[in-house]
Amino acid sequence: MTSYNITMLPGDGIGPEIMAQVRRVMAWVEGAHGVSFKITDGLIGGCAYEADGVPLSDTTLATAKASDAILMGAVGGPQWDGKVDYAKRPEAGLLRLRKDLDLFANLRPAMCFDALADASSLKRDLVAGLDILFVRELAGGVYFGEPRGIEDLPGGGRVGINTQRYTDAEIIRIAHVAFDMARKRGGRVHSAEKANVMEAGVLWREEVTKLHAAEYTDVKLEHILADNCAMQLVKAPKQFDVILTDNLFGDILSDAAAMLTGSLGMLPSASLGSGGPGLYEPVHGSAPDIAGQNLANPIAAILSFAMALRYSLDMGVAADAVEAAVDKTLASGARTGDIWTEGTIRVGTDGMGDAVLKALNN
Ligand code: NAD
Repeated sequence: MTSYNITMLPGDGIGPEIMAQVRRVMAWVEGAHGVSFKITDGLIGGCAYEADGVPLSDTTLATAKASDAILMGAVGGPQWDGKVDYAKRPEAGLLRLRKDLDLFANLRPAMCFDALADASSLKRDLVAGLDILFVRELAGGVYFGEPRGIEDLPGGGRVGINTQRYTDAEIIRIAHVAFDMARKRGGRVHSAEKANVMEAGVLWREEVTKLHAAEYTDVKLEHILADNCAMQLVKAPKQFDVILTDNLFGDILSDAAAMLTGSLGMLPSASLGSGGPGLYEPVHGSAPDIAGQNLANPIAAILSFAMALRYSLDMGVAADAVEAAVDKTLASGARTGDIWTEGTIRVGTDGMGDAVLKALNN
């Protein structure tokens, strides 16, 4: 029997509650698909800070690195906001994990399940069937570029500095991911930058064009300015298949697209590096306002596990089964509070887990 090592990092707030439902789905996959998951639990975020004095210990990092996939819940909470050293805040644990594993490719699907099409802020016909995959560069760009800082100006006043910086190698490696993903999906890539006003955008466009011509002519490539991409996402989002973009534009565009699909509680993500394990986590945070009350929607976490099955464990068939079960669950009318509407059935976190298990078993 194939056995996989999984590091499970539930984290803070609603993290432990939603990850408990993921464990149930994992157990189903073990039974139905003849694999075994060897789960090692670890601490990350505020809970790790309380236990170890750091938001991610060396031991947990080493365990995560040696595993086949890392499943995370969420980190953070008001009890640590502004009360711990900047370097030891909960989010620093997550940043350390991303940096140490060189997770440079952030995959964020924006999918609209049919049963939730009316929950979108756009009209049903614009979003029903929506299926976009954002491929966002995660390790470079303006969030990391040097020089950076806040400096005093000689004549008085201050200046804030950040630098948008991309090497050709960084652009090429993320573009590979986007083209490879497009080959497995709709065969189309929109590459979004601001080549009209930024040199980093000019280089981005040149390198993506070169790579496409050399290796991916079977994929349809279009370049789009990031501001126009934002407009098109709310005007006619279904025109997109894969959107390739940098760290900053990807942050903003994928958040905007996410809201087209209904709730934060529905959105999974994957971060991949070159070779090591991928990190799979819901897009939402630790939701301290509803933590510990059996109110959180576990679907984003369950769909993140489906991404792990597909991208780290090569179990696409099992991933399809989990995604189909989520679709069926929503069609059955089960809803946590975040996606509840008149006429549907309100359930808690574990009730949503029950409904997904029922759909998997039918
Ligand atoms: P949040 O995503 O935690 O919550 C925003 C709103 O969405 C809240 O009203 C919350 O109740 C709701 N929500 C989120 N996930 C939900 C779910 N699964 N089911 C139902 N409702 C859900 O964002 P926030 O309130 O801005 O941040 C709270 C904490 O989370 C902060 O400490 C922040 O730093 C942290 N955070 C962590 C991550 C991460 O771990 N990757 C991401 C974002 C925010």
